[in-house]
Amino acid sequence: MTDPRTDTSTSPTSTAVPAPVDAEQSDVLPTGLVDVAVIGGGSAGLNGALMLGRSRRSVVVIDGDLRFEIVLEGGGRLTTRRVLVATGVRDELPAVPGLAAHWGHGLIHCPYCHGWEVRDQAIGILASGPGSVHQALLFRQLSDDVLYFRRGTELDEEGRARLEALGVRIIEDEVTEVVAAGDGTLAAVRLTDGTQVPRHTLAVASRPLPRLEGLEGLGLEVEELPGGIAAKVPSGMGGVTGVPGVSVGGNVTDPMAQVGASAASGASAGAFLNASLVMAEADAAVAALSGAGAR
Ligand SMILES: Cc1cc2nc3c(=O)[nH]c(=O)nc-3n(C[C@H](O)[C@H](O)[C@H](O)COP(=O)(O)OP(=O)(O)OC[C@H]3O[C@@H](n4cnc5c(N)ncnc54)[C@H](O)[C@@H]3O)c2cc1C
Repeated sequence: MTDPRTDTSTSPTSTAVPAPVDAEQSDVLPTGLVDVAVIGGGSAGLNGALMLGRSRRSVVVIDGDLRFEIVLEGGGRLTTRRVLVATGVRDELPAVPGLAAHWGHGLIHCPYCHGWEVRDQAIGILASGPGSVHQALLFRQLSDDVLYFRRGTELDEEGRARLEALGVRIIEDEVTEVVAAGDGTLAAVRLTDGTQVPRHTLAVASRPLPRLEGLEGLGLEVEELPGGIAAKVPSGMGGVTGVPGVSVGGNVTDPMAQVGASAASGASAGAFLNASLVMAEADAAVAALSGAGAR
């Protein structure tokens, strides 16, 4: 496989063409060649752009509700030498009616992100697989009142013993709906027999998947993590992918990373992209000199 860090033969020219947007929401796009197009302006993308900008690289950060046509050669309104994909993830949730509306509010996933805020509250774990036992134990560290809605998912003897030993009650009945209060906040979990179990906070192990909608043309590989808990775009050091000239940073390649790790990965990808451009330019200069010498 060609090493995208040193390859100069392909001159990877990716073109990102956004649909027309409100001029107040977008800087004027350059019409000439740019060094790197960063797609995604979260912690990873912005830190990647920062490293590149401080290395005097021309960078365009594209974020928001844009649609792109990515082509690897020719045409288009924005031509770039490298692409940094930092588009994050979308979290797939269990198909329970009423559940998705509470994402990021009454419905949470990460004890390190929201756990402190729900300490000592009545918490329900909406199990989605064997990994949910682990999640339940983490939230049990924060509250004495934790219910485990098993929802027919696998629960081995060891997991059951751990939950029971720590006073986590296991609800075996299937969940049919998540019920909202009049003000829209999460109020209860409805079971098959119609019982409503009051809970204002539910935790679920979501399945983060790389956000690559509109970027399929780049041909990035997507890899399932063990047990299907998530998927990612595999990358090597500095976010280098198998596609020459295309790097990734943040959640798109490390779905479990929080803001700090995502920012670090974006910065590292930016630095590697700058290094690949430096190497390509040095090689081109050597080739130009030796060509001149031969004449
Ligand atoms: C509910 C919730 C709460 C969280 N709380 C915390 C917390 O408290 N602390 C913490 O450290 N982490 C928290 N996290 C995790 C944190 O949000 C991520 O780790 C971090 O945002 C990842 O950064 P990123 O730059 O990779 O992706 P993102 O921050 O998701 O940024 C990706 C960007 O790309 C843009 N984008 C996507 N597709 C396209 C496209 N096709 N074209 C252009 N732009 C595109 C998006 O608009 C977005 O701005 C939380 C996550 C969730 C879901």
